[in-house]
Amino acid sequence: RVKEHGKTGFQRYTAEMNDTAIQTLIMEEWLNKALEEEQFVLFYQPQIKIESNRIIGMEALLRWRHPNLGLIPPGEFIPLAEETGLIIPIGEWVLRTACKQNVAWQQAGFEPMKMAVNISPIQFHQGCFVEVVLDALQESGLDPQYLELEITEGIAMFQVDQVIHKLQILRNHGVQISIDDFGTGYSSLTYLKKFPIHKLKIAQEFVRGLTFDPDDAAIVQAIIAMAHSLKLDVIAEGVETNEQLEFLTSVECREIQGYIYSRPLPAHELTHIMPTIAAHHVG
Ligand code: C2E
Ligand code: MG
Ligand code: MG
Ligand code: MG
Repeated sequence: RVKEHGKTGFQRYTAEMNDTAIQTLIMEEWLNKALEEEQFVLFYQPQIKIESNRIIGMEALLRWRHPNLGLIPPGEFIPLAEETGLIIPIGEWVLRTACKQNVAWQQAGFEPMKMAVNISPIQFHQGCFVEVVLDALQESGLDPQYLELEITEGIAMFQVDQVIHKLQILRNHGVQISIDDFGTGYSSLTYLKKFPIHKLKIAQEFVRGLTFDPDDAAIVQAIIAMAHSLKLDVIAEGVETNEQLEFLTSVECREIQGYIYSRPLPAHELTHIMPTIAAHHVG
């Protein structure tokens, strides 16, 4: 089966089920089971302040540890979780787990840092989303200023007024809001004006070409300048090379996330290496 070369076990498995309806049903069953049997795990990727070389945050990134197929990346199951609505209980689990982990790191003596959690538009649009977030904070005891919600421009496809209302309530509670993959959605500039947000995340697709594609360089530079003028924080994601890091520093991007510092890792691995990937442990 040449055409399936390079696919993961999961993609190969599902491709063999050629009836789409049955495939969806089986997958839905599997996802339900994954939730019940606690097969989901969070990996975490550090966010670094360049100037001080310190970890200022972590992004929680979901993986599915399937008993037979191994570790499945989010791109392979989140779309179906969104279609079936399962993203709502899964997303709630992510929020609760990420908040608890952040508290655990603080209790272990690490300097307080932000925990960034990806929020699907479907999850955000559920009626009780604000309550779900506040519950996760209360249950874990995490100070709201150390929770950051990563939303995407797609969140504003409908019910813009309600979106703004929810963001305002969250902001009033002290929760931070960032726009993920900034610049890859549509009519982003409207949101910058209307949404009570704190931070822009420059999409990896612009960072990738930074050092060889003048258009990417121009876009990244423009996003950073705009963020500064609007008094928003800005972070570049997907930073892999020293050349990219140098460019970003030269255009006054102060925070980065990417393989150059660390891949996303399980919590216990980060606990061990945190002191060495940045000057995080120095008082
Ligand atoms: P994202 O939020 O934009 O996350 C960044 C993705 O880039 C992650 O992929 C991360 O592993 C990857 N990455 C980080 N640094 C580098 C780098 O230097 N080079 C390269 N090539 N890649 C890098 P991942 O973990 O596969 O997640 C993919 C997407 O799945 C995320 O994109 C996010 O949209 C979604 N996702 C992940 N976890 C969750 C979750 O808990 N809930 C929801 N709704 N979506 C999630
Ligand atoms: Mg993200
Ligand atoms: Mg992103
Ligand atoms: Mg994304």
